[in-house]
Amino acid sequence: MPSDLLSICEVRVRLLREYNDATTNYAERVRQMVELALAGRESESNAARRLCRVAWDTAESSRIALSRHEADHSCDRAGESRSVEDLDSL
Ligand SMILES: [Zn+2]
Repeated sequence: MPSDLLSICEVRVRLLREYNDATTNYAERVRQMVELALAGRESESNAARRLCRVAWDTAESSRIALSRHEADHSCDRAGESRSVEDLDSL
């Protein structure tokens, strides 16, 4: 466990960013699918829904990878208050 509160595990940083990107992509896919459905473009909406499912799988895989790393490495236990501040500066 790092004693320097300014340091954060590089792998965890990468996994956090991947999880963030994956969920942002998922949200965008859902937004597109809903827009198509509300416009009555059903076949396009159905195709978009499949992309939503793929994006969801990616987001869930990212979440699991992050959770597993934190459990194995215990790198989420250093600097509890610091990790909240890190989110603000992303
Ligand atoms: Zn770590």
